[in-house]
Amino acid sequence: MSFFQKEFVANSAAVRVRFGPGVRHDLGAEIDRIGATRALILSTPQQAESALTFAETLGGRAAGVFSGAAMHTPVEVSENAVDHAREIDADIIVAVGGGSTTGLGKAIAYRTDLPQIVVPTTYAGSEATPILGQTEQGRKTTLTDPRVQPEIILYDAELVATLPVGMTVTSALNAVAHAAEALYARERNPLSSALAVEGMQAFAAALPKVVANPADLDARGETLYGAWLCGTVLGQVGMALHHKLCHTLGGSFGLPHAETHAIVLPHAIAFNETAVPDLLAPVGAAFGGGPAGAALHRFATKMGAPLSLKDIGLAEADLDRAAEIATQNAYWNPAGIDRDGIRRLLDAAFHGRAPER
Ligand code: NAD
Repeated sequence: MSFFQKEFVANSAAVRVRFGPGVRHDLGAEIDRIGATRALILSTPQQAESALTFAETLGGRAAGVFSGAAMHTPVEVSENAVDHAREIDADIIVAVGGGSTTGLGKAIAYRTDLPQIVVPTTYAGSEATPILGQTEQGRKTTLTDPRVQPEIILYDAELVATLPVGMTVTSALNAVAHAAEALYARERNPLSSALAVEGMQAFAAALPKVVANPADLDARGETLYGAWLCGTVLGQVGMALHHKLCHTLGGSFGLPHAETHAIVLPHAIAFNETAVPDLLAPVGAAFGGGPAGAALHRFATKMGAPLSLKDIGLAEADLDRAAEIATQNAYWNPAGIDRDGIRRLLDAAFHGRAPER
């Protein structure tokens, strides 16, 4: 099957990507390669020990460690980190972690234009995009800027092998969500569609192996490959209903990022499948056949993913307001968006039913 389109525009960022179990040990060489000498290592508080190990290994190239990264990149944390980077005269940022840590690195780069190396430990894919989401006084805003795009990514399967199985599954479905929505994006091009399908196929093949044996480094490597591809398409094309709903549920109701993506995905895709069944056919094919939404729901169930919003902290009384907020501002989506349709979608996701359509 070809993804040829009669007309398209394609933009690609210049990013150096290295894959391999143990590739993190070449971090020092990568820092030397771009001529930097004073690295600031970033992590969340939970991964502080890992950041310290990186600093020890880097020896004189490590100028400091900042382990305050937090979900949704709070601006006050970023400002503290920028002050710290200036105090220690850092000339490169090294982010070791998931989307939260990568987000902090991007926020520093946005304010200082320092180069970034990311060593991802989840499948969120932020390392492959020029997008930065930040929160200030409870409000999340998103910007796209070339300064934010990390220059180097080191994908090391040994690091992602410590990700607990539950987070592995939700993080993988978060990545699949980027690829599924990329297939009907207005800005899609043949390359973004091919990357999206390859990324989904990598997860469909390797995630069941990782769930069966989380220490399987070959399967971990293949899921990281999927994460890179899905993250790359996220950076190339715009997202629609699914990401909007997750943004609303995360931003206004404090629901956890990856879990929310995992639960909403089959429903949002089933909703849009009524408008663009042909564009979404590769999703169904990748995840076991049949309609895309139903196939994703079956796959998520088999992988042991959470299936209902009520299980991750949403109250039934919030559904009306969530539908209201998610339909307040007009945005492009392949299927027409109406409040009642979104309210029904959210109801199915709340109770963990299979998608309606
Ligand atoms: P996360 O980075 O918040 O990580 C969740 C928790 O898991 C953290 O405590 C972290 O320290 C821990 N963790 C991460 N990797 C681990 C590992 N291998 N072993 C053990 N523990 C580990 O979660 P996430 O889902 O990766 O990222 C979510 C954030 O990323 C959100 O804020 C989201 O908006 C953002 N994001 C941004 C983009 C973008 O392009 N800008 C893309 C995707 C996600």
